[in-house]
Amino acid sequence: MQPDTCDIAILGGGLAGGLIALALSARRPDLRVMIVERGEKLGGHHIWSFFASDLPSTAQALVEPMIAARWDGYSVHFPSFSRALSTPYRSVTSERLDLAVRATLPPGCVLTGVEVVSATPVTVALGDGRRIAARGVIDARGSNGLPHMGGGWQKFLGRMLCLSTPHGLTAPIVMDGRVEQADGYHFIYCLPFSPTEIFVEDTYYSDSPMLDVPKLGRRLANYAALQGWQVETISYEETGVLPVIASGDFDAFWAAGGNGVARAGAGAGLLHPLTSYSLPEAVRFALHLTTLDNFSGSSLERASHAWVADHWRRGRFYRMLSRMLFGAARPDVRWRVLERFYRLPEPLIERFYAGQSTLTDRLRILAGKPPVSVTAALASLAGYGRPLADLA
Ligand SMILES: Cc1cc2nc3c(=O)[nH]c(=O)nc-3n(C[C@H](O)[C@H](O)[C@H](O)COP(=O)(O)OP(=O)(O)OC[C@H]3O[C@@H](n4cnc5c(N)ncnc54)[C@H](O)[C@@H]3O)c2cc1C
Repeated sequence: MQPDTCDIAILGGGLAGGLIALALSARRPDLRVMIVERGEKLGGHHIWSFFASDLPSTAQALVEPMIAARWDGYSVHFPSFSRALSTPYRSVTSERLDLAVRATLPPGCVLTGVEVVSATPVTVALGDGRRIAARGVIDARGSNGLPHMGGGWQKFLGRMLCLSTPHGLTAPIVMDGRVEQADGYHFIYCLPFSPTEIFVEDTYYSDSPMLDVPKLGRRLANYAALQGWQVETISYEETGVLPVIASGDFDAFWAAGGNGVARAGAGAGLLHPLTSYSLPEAVRFALHLTTLDNFSGSSLERASHAWVADHWRRGRFYRMLSRMLFGAARPDVRWRVLERFYRLPEPLIERFYAGQSTLTDRLRILAGKPPVSVTAALASLAGYGRPLADLA
């Protein structure tokens, strides 16, 4: 059988792969792009959220078709402090990603329900026996753990609750830490999608990747009951166990995977070390790829390595904060670190989430009376956290 041919073959039609396909199609229409996804739909069944300030203004057109909800601000709550912030917040959905990519790529270039079995920098072997020959291949098949990296986990159970009466929220609650502290820093995250639909997540910054879904479900139900919400149905549910990166050996990480193939997305380590969110990095990398001159497999691999290595260098400060959060703060008082952080100026908080903290921001974050003991903070800097190689 003759192989399919294309300029760029993207392996994995999730967030990163889908964004690369959209960016290349929009900015490099000279390239024939194919995307291969093992699921029936691109992106699976997901909601991805981000702060508008996370993205460069040049990314607006790329993400706009995928935005399902937008808010003009958000709030946070802690035991002795609440704050409303004005940074706009956005959610995109996998349904919209799927629609956008299918509407953009030519017929025959979106392969779903097909497993990638193996790949080289210029070829792809599919589970149904087909092959693809490409000028260059990009592997965006997600993450099953990050070898040679250590840290902790951000884990959660999220449910879309359909209520019989309006919940009354007009903006997201990004952290409600006024809940019983358990299994690390415990907070609730709420996205009001419509007056009677609210996505609620029970979240933990934990030392363990274990997720007790029934227990988290009970906590979500208790939280909803305390707010006086009458839940009629649960229309959607998701769980996540995301790595919080505290340390690592980047060269060993890169050498451990890839097979010489260019890499993208969470599997390449392109995520915020502390929040584990990858959408902003996925957007930036997709836009960067459109500026390349050479799309050969080896050149793409070098470009992805250079980009990710730079991202790793820029993440050093955040990894140090992860070490302090997990190493210095007792699990039941981790909330104090976040409470203190949210008292800082809003532009600093925006740059923090965008992974673009300035030197002054860094000093400001570290200055003042620490919410943890100084001895413990210093001791934690040498810590590496638990290996993130195998996610639960
Ligand atoms: C429940 C959950 C919620 C999250 N929420 C957010 C959020 O709100 N904001 C944010 O920025 N980040 C969020 N994240 C973190 C991160 O952004 C996501 O995990 C994101 O989906 C990672 O993008 P990716 O493209 O690297 O991987 P994925 O989106 O997982 O995409 C990888 C794709 O590759 C496919 N694939 C894998 N193996 C093969 C194969 N052999 N052949 C063919 N296809 C294959 C998979 O089916 C999948 O579709 C969340 C993560 C989870 C798990």
